[in-house]
Amino acid sequence: MRELARSITSADDLARALALTPDELAGARRAEEQGLPIRITPHYLSLVDRNDPACPIRKQCVPLIDESRTIDGDLTDPLGEVAHEVAPHLVQRYPDRALLLVTDRCAVYCRFCTRSRMVGDGGGAVTQEKLEPAMRYLEEHPEVTDVIVSGGDPLCMATARLVRIVERLRRISSIQTIRLATRVPVTLPSRITTELVRALRPHHPLWVMTHFNHPKELAPASIRALTRLADAGFPVMNQSVLLRGINDDPAVLAELFRGLIRARTRPYYLLQMDPVVGTGHLRTPLGRGEAIVEALQGRLTGIALPKFIVDTPGGMGKVPIVPSYVVSRSPGLTKLRTHRGVTVDYVDPRP
Ligand code: SF4
Repeated sequence: MRELARSITSADDLARALALTPDELAGARRAEEQGLPIRITPHYLSLVDRNDPACPIRKQCVPLIDESRTIDGDLTDPLGEVAHEVAPHLVQRYPDRALLLVTDRCAVYCRFCTRSRMVGDGGGAVTQEKLEPAMRYLEEHPEVTDVIVSGGDPLCMATARLVRIVERLRRISSIQTIRLATRVPVTLPSRITTELVRALRPHHPLWVMTHFNHPKELAPASIRALTRLADAGFPVMNQSVLLRGINDDPAVLAELFRGLIRARTRPYYLLQMDPVVGTGHLRTPLGRGEAIVEALQGRLTGIALPKFIVDTPGGMGKVPIVPSYVVSRSPGLTKLRTHRGVTVDYVDPRP
């Protein structure tokens, strides 16, 4: 965690590290005063092109003055998490799953963050005592079998503290799966130490939900972190966010998804960006994602192909967006369009 202490956290730090454009400098000054703060680890900074404002890593971590703009549909809390809070720090939007928000800290503050309303707000790690009402709620609701530990980034907490949370969850017999939602393999891969995996391993099944958005993020240190997790028996899943000018290109995403499966990480979701206030400049139209998924279908092995998902505004639930391959339907006969551009008849069995 010493690397975390050497992170960039101010506009002046950023201006010393990179040749900032006027829009970036104004964005960084604004971020210091309001909204989502700045934090960039030395590792993530090492991936940034210092002279190219269009660098896909730079655009994810360097604020722009565009963050001060609000566009139609923007929301402060796009997933309605505040409205779905069932106990302090616990959000439940589905009958069998709940989200436990254990810290507001992250190694890097991503400029498109869905939880920009609360991450980096200075609260730090939530104490065990303050999480206890959430734990009691989970005990009283055995229908919740899957808990996602998130934040912020739970792997930015001290190991002992994180392990205490996991141990407490494991004492709730109805909880079958615990997922750790973390961007640390991308932004602070040195955090995935042998000690960390050794401390967490006794509490399997523990799934790691990580978040790579661009093939440049698959740096050797990140691949080592993913390998360490996989070797220690953690199923590792990746959720990418579709970002304008960063990864909204089938070739870029194909390279990312292929790289992830080489590192034994399953591309799980490609998420349409949530309409978070101040992020309109990074959001793509829905049709763009649909076209990308269509371009990848049949050209990328199924294990590398994530579901394209819209998490509907207001916390109404996730919707998979699948391009339609059905050309027509008549009783007993469906005409299907394949990725080869041919139409094929599928005949139903007789009733
Ligand atoms: S790591 Fe996750 S929670 Fe933290 S700023 Fe990035 S997207 Fe938001």
